[in-house]
Formats: sequence, structure tokens, C-alpha cells
Amino acid sequence: MTEKREDNLTLADLKTGEEGVIVKVKGHGSFRKRITEMGFVSGKNVKVIKNAPLKDPVEYRLMGYNISLRRSEASLIEVIASDSGYVHAKSPYRGTLSEDRLYSAMRERTKTINVALVGNPNSGKTTLFNHASGSRERVGNYGGVTVESKEAAVRQDGYTIKLVDLPGTYSITEYTPEELFVRNHLLNESPDVVVNVIDASSLERNMFLTTQLIDMNIKVIIALNMYDELKEKNIELNHTELGRLLGIPVIPTVAVRGFGITELLKRIIVVYEEADPDARHIHINYGNTIEESIARVQAEIKKNIDAAARYSTRYLSVKLLEDDRSTLDLLREGDNFEAVMRVQQAEIQSLEKEYGVKSGTVIADAKYGFIAGALNETCKGYSVDLPGKGRNIDSVLTHRIWGFPVFLAFMWLMFQTTFTLGGYPMEWIEAGVGWIGGLIGSTMPEGSLRDLLTDGIIGGVGGVIVFLPNILILFFFISLMEDTGYMARVSFIMDKLMHKVGLHGKSFIPLLMGFGCNVPAVMATRTLDNRKDRIITMLIIPFMSCSARLPVYILIISAFFPIYQGLVLFSVYLLGIAMAVIMAKLLRSTVFSKQDVPFVMELPPYRIPTIRNTLRHMWFKGSQYLRKMGTVILVASVIIWALGYFPRKVNYSSDYDSLIASVSSDNSLTEERRNDLVDSLTIRKTSEHQGKSVIGRLGRFIEPAILPLGFDWKIGVSILTGMAAKEIVVGTMGILYHADAGSGEGIAGLTEKLQLQVHTRGKLEGERVFTPVVAYGFMLFILIYFPCVAVIAAIRKEAGWGWAFFAMFYTTAIAWVVAFIVYQGGRLLN
Ligand code: GDP
Ligand code: MG
Repeated sequence: MTEKREDNLTLADLKTGEEGVIVKVKGHGSFRKRITEMGFVSGKNVKVIKNAPLKDPVEYRLMGYNISLRRSEASLIEVIASDSGYVHAKSPYRGTLSEDRLYSAMRERTKTINVALVGNPNSGKTTLFNHASGSRERVGNYGGVTVESKEAAVRQDGYTIKLVDLPGTYSITEYTPEELFVRNHLLNESPDVVVNVIDASSLERNMFLTTQLIDMNIKVIIALNMYDELKEKNIELNHTELGRLLGIPVIPTVAVRGFGITELLKRIIVVYEEADPDARHIHINYGNTIEESIARVQAEIKKNIDAAARYSTRYLSVKLLEDDRSTLDLLREGDNFEAVMRVQQAEIQSLEKEYGVKSGTVIADAKYGFIAGALNETCKGYSVDLPGKGRNIDSVLTHRIWGFPVFLAFMWLMFQTTFTLGGYPMEWIEAGVGWIGGLIGSTMPEGSLRDLLTDGIIGGVGGVIVFLPNILILFFFISLMEDTGYMARVSFIMDKLMHKVGLHGKSFIPLLMGFGCNVPAVMATRTLDNRKDRIITMLIIPFMSCSARLPVYILIISAFFPIYQGLVLFSVYLLGIAMAVIMAKLLRSTVFSKQDVPFVMELPPYRIPTIRNTLRHMWFKGSQYLRKMGTVILVASVIIWALGYFPRKVNYSSDYDSLIASVSSDNSLTEERRNDLVDSLTIRKTSEHQGKSVIGRLGRFIEPAILPLGFDWKIGVSILTGMAAKEIVVGTMGILYHADAGSGEGIAGLTEKLQLQVHTRGKLEGERVFTPVVAYGFMLFILIYFPCVAVIAAIRKEAGWGWAFFAMFYTTAIAWVVAFIVYQGGRLLN
């Protein structure tokens, strides 16, 4: 014990049989959480049961339990030994210690806060240090005056604040002795609080160091020094908001005049006691590509338990990706060092291949993107005052007026291309699917298996796969927007608008994608940092009318709205958006009401992406979508097909088979007439079979529930089949309303049938099924109810079963209410 300074004594230093009181628990992440949950908190008495030198684990007794800890973990718990000189020296007698004397020694230690001052050279650290401590260290107007650290203690509100003035650095890397010194101090001495002294007159450059401190996940306070110069330059900075965004309290100071120093000291205490509302750990969002690399490196580093307990694994990962040698030294002891290096090299290579520059530059750029985003939100005139890369483009793209038309033009181009260009491959796929279906139909023997393949699988999956080209094109644009850095700007200009709905700018893109297909839109919510935002966005995405719903609208509008067709269609989309706004507000004020923490919207530098990378990103997203098709849609199509297919034996109202046989052999008819009759008989048979199948019975079963909406059981069946995918609705209606939707005159024939359709049972018997009011209600119902199986599966994957179920039921309930209001309201008006 003698070789160790007593105020650095840790649990690992205590020998078998010795006792101590816990003063502080250091370390990181899950280790820290676990250890405090076990009861290792300051003030608790610990006895060493067995501590064999060089042997893991060490056994302790704490609160009546025996607990084993690894030596490396125990060395992160600071203690006072019960028989230490530290306590004896303060005691008048050198005898047995009373409990409360030990306790008061412990309290004194916990009321000592070790603080390190870090910041760029010439930011005013030494001036601040001198002013706070009353000492007279040399200050100089040039870099490198402070060569080693100076210490001084300050009393404030019953606490002893031990300040350490460290050399100035621009970054915590390993290039200069100063940087290495600072980094070792932060990592090895682990100060309780770090004061980041920032020269307010050159915020952007100074905050680079701040981003590294954020990565380290340590307690930081910013002394916004030279505040006088900021004022002189007339720069308006909302420093409170900046602090909230960074998760680091910001205190303006003018060190030469001593302004703000007392407030800084007081705030240090609050942060140390973990009572500061603004102090929290945030993650700098490095963008998808880098984040994925970080995740892979981090997964490997976490296997090194000792390192993970001591340091932030995220910090280590970012450092490794920067190819930082001395960070490797921290991991050298681990069993998996080889593996860590392998992952590191692979990830650095893939980053450099993607970006075409050194990985260190890639990460530095992302950090500056974070800083730019944070300052753009909190600092008026920032983009004008501080010149730099891409600012000229930004002055247009994020302009508060010009930004919108530019964006709208881009959106128009995106959707236009998606549908026009996507139309061609769509036709090819349609033809291909038809050809395969025909081939199987003509070669396989008749029977359930053939029907399953042609109608169930090919019909179901084929109907969805035709949208793949559209979706790929949409993904191409989205990837392009992401890769160039424009996406970040879109979120930025939409932020104000989205805030009115209780969401953030970043929710905008997923919502927009929803108009194409809700499935990738739900997947795109991953870019949101906050889980609440993610879930709200996911829950309102289904109100964005996806392209699969369009065929239904087209059918209904062409049948029942001869004039103002475009307007009617537009109103449906608009109502969907209105529903989304209402629901977002409702969810925000009820389920997700707790006040949210703000976050930085990064403005990454503009890049010209390579076509290869953008295509790769497009394909990555597309393949996720395809996988969903292959599983969920396939299963759902087969189930729905089976529900309509079985039971095979039903009692038909007429003997269709013999009717068909007699028509086929009736030579008095022309061949054309014969074929027509056979076709119509076949459809009648299919239709009647559908009605008497399981799904038909289900349709009749739910009829009482949808009768108040003016819907008949055939609509009921269509709604049920539409759960698999909404484009199936039209097909089902085609079969049930006796029209061959497959033939050339398909829709035209079907519209007439729909117009003539009357209720055959119940209260409404004899009345026309579709009035314009019912038709409109039906479109809204299709828009709002149960998104589709694939969307539910996506929501389940992103948010869990609970929210998936919620999405199923709440959308259907709202759909019912809306259709009810439309129908009953329309009846009242008539
Ligand atoms: P260090 O390198 O971070 O230790 O910075 P110093 O403490 O040596 O200060 C560098 C220069 O900045 C000195 O000339 C200080 O007088 C000056 N300085 C420090 N704080 C302030 C401040 O708040 N306002 C102004 N205007 N100058 C300051
Ligand atoms: Mg200095």
C-alpha cells in the first residue's frame, strides 16, 4: 500500500482481510451500470475475502453478499482503506477507528473533484486557471507556453476542486507530445470532470476537440471563453441551446476579467453530482457508412472486457478507424487483439475505398459536419460569417426561401422518373410473370398444386414484384441524396415545418418515401436518432398513400367520379397527410408526451459519389425489400389464396360444369360466342366459389361490422384480401363482381358492374351498393386501414410486436370511424 498514493487507492490494491469504503466508481458503459446495480456505490463498506496476487477473480463481501470481481474491474473502484494513514493522520488518536471518522474521510474524498482543463492553445486555459486558483502561471499569446501540467485546488460550496492546467491541443491524437500528454491524462487519470476551454471567436476549429471529448463519453463542461470578443464581433450565439444539443453545459467566460468563473465552478459541482439536466451523453452521428464500420469494430472491441470496462468502446472504435496507433496499444493485452486489428484494417480499407480519401479525413469531415449542424442551428449568421467548403452551395440549398423550390423540383424529378422510367421494366416483369404463369398452367396437370403455383404464389408475389423497378429507382434517388449530402440539407430545411407536427426534420424523408412504398419507408426510420421519433414516424407512415393503393383509387374514381377526377384523387392523398399530422400530434401529446432532448442535425460536406457506390447502396436497400417479398408476402399470398380456394366442394346454385360442357359442344354457336359463354360461366363459378369459400364466409361474417359504412360482404372480402397487399383489392373485386379484370376491357367492364351492384341481403337490401359517398368512404378506408402484411412485418422488426399490433388495430379503427363519418354524414345530407 505504501507504493501507491493513498488518494489513488483502488479495491484491487486491498489485501485479503482488509476493509475499505468506496469513494468513486470509474469506468464505462455496461460495466459501470452493472457494478452500481451490484451495490458498489460510494459510502459502501467492502471487505476482501480472498485476493490472491496475480489471480482473477477477487472475492469481496459487500452488504452481506459475496461478490467476485475481475482485478481489472476492481481497479476502477476507488476506496479508502479502513486502517489507512489517510484517516489516521486526521485522527487525534492512533487507535481503533470509529465508523463515523472513516465516513467523514470518505465524504471528504467524494467532495474532491478532479478537474482537467483542456482546449486549443491560446484559448485561455492558463488565464482561467490563474484566475480561479489565484496562482500566477505564465500566460502567453503564443502556443506551447504550458509544457507540463500545473495543479491547484479551489474551494467552492464545500467542495475541493482540483484544477489541472494541461497543455494546449487542437485534437486528441498522437502527433505531438502535448496531444499524447493530454490524452494519457484523460484516459489514465480519468478526471471527474473535464473543462473544455473554447475560444468563442473561432468556434468551429475549437469544437473539433469537443467532438473527441464527446466520443470519449466523459463528463465535460464548456467554458466559452473570450466571450467578450464574440460580443464585439456581433455574433449571436444561443449558448444554452448549443449546450443542450451537445449534451454539455456551456458557460460563457471572460477569463482575463474573471467573468463567469464562479458560475463555471458551481456548474462543475452540478455536473459532477450528475444533477445537470443538460449534461448527457450523445453520439455524434457519423452517417450510415461510418456508423456501420464503427459498429463492426465496436463489436470486436467489446469482447475485450478489461478495455470495455475502462474506456468507451465507441471512442476506441472511432480512434481505430482513424488508424490511431496508440489506441491499439490500449487493446494489445486483450486475447482478441489480432481480430481487432483485422476488423480495423478491413473497415479502414472499405471506408477509404468508398470515400477515396484517408479514413482519418473521412471521420474529421463528419465531425466538422456535426459542428456545422450544431452551429447552424444556434449561431445566427454562422454560414455567412465563416467561409468554407460547400458554403456557397449551402447558401442556396438551405436558404430559408430558395431551399424549398429547389427541393420541390428535385422531388418532382424523382417521382416523375420513378414512374415513367419504372413503367418499362414494370411491363416486362408483368409480361414475364404472366408468361411463367401461363407456362406452368399449360404444362402442369390440373389440380391444387398447379392452382397454388399459378394463382397463389405467382399471382401474389408477381403482383408485388412488378413494383420492384419503381422501388429500385426510388432507392437510387434516395441513395444519391444521402451520398451527396443533400439529404441532410432536406432534413434541415424541413425541420421547422416538422416541428409543428411534433417531429424532427429527419422524419421527413421516410414519410416522403412512404408515397412510393411504406416498407422501405419504415426501414428508413433507422436514420432517426431518437426511438420516440422513430416510432411516431413509423406509425404515421401508413397514412402516406403508397403506390399499391393507386389502382384501387383509379378503379373507384373512374366508376363513380366522372368529373373532377384529379381533384378527388388529390383529396384522398391530402386526407392521408392530414390524418398523419393529426395522429402525430395526438401521439406526441399522449403516448410520447415526455419532453424530448434536442439533437444536432449534421451538415456533412458535399461529396460527388461514385455511381458504383450509389448503385451498391441502392441494391442494399432493394435486397432488404426483396427479402421481405420472398418471405412475408409469399406466406400471406398463399394463406389468402388458400382461404379463397378451400373448401373445394361447395354447393353451386347451378351445375356450372355441365353447363360449360353443353355450351362447348353446342355447334349452333360461333366459336367466339362459345368462348364468351364459357368464360362468363367460369367467372360465375369462380365468383360463387369465392363467396362460399372460407374467405367468403369471413366476408359475410364481418358484414354486420361494415354495414354501417355502407359496405357489402364482397367489399368485406376485398378488404380482407387487401391485408396481404393492397393491389390485391382490385383483383378480388374483379372476381367477386363478375368481371374479368384480366382481359383488355377489364377495368371498363368492372366499373359498370360496380355501378349496377345492389345489396342482396340485410337492412340495405335492394339499394345500390356504391353511391359516390360509399365509394369515397371506401377509398378512404383502403387508404387508412391495416397497412399491409409487409409493413406490419417491417414495423415489428424495427419496433417490436407491441407496436406492430398497435399499428394493425389503430389504423383499422380509424379507417372504420372515417368511413362511418363519410357514409352517415353523406346520408344525412341527402
Ligand atoms: P492557453 O494557451 O490556453 O493557456 O491561453 P492563455 O491563458 O495563455 O491565454 C492566451 C491569451 O488570451 C492571453 O493573452 C490572454 O490574456 C488572452 N485571454 C484569455 N482569456 C481571454 C478572454 O476571455 N478574453 C480576451 N479578450 N482575451 C483572453
Ligand atoms: Mg497555457
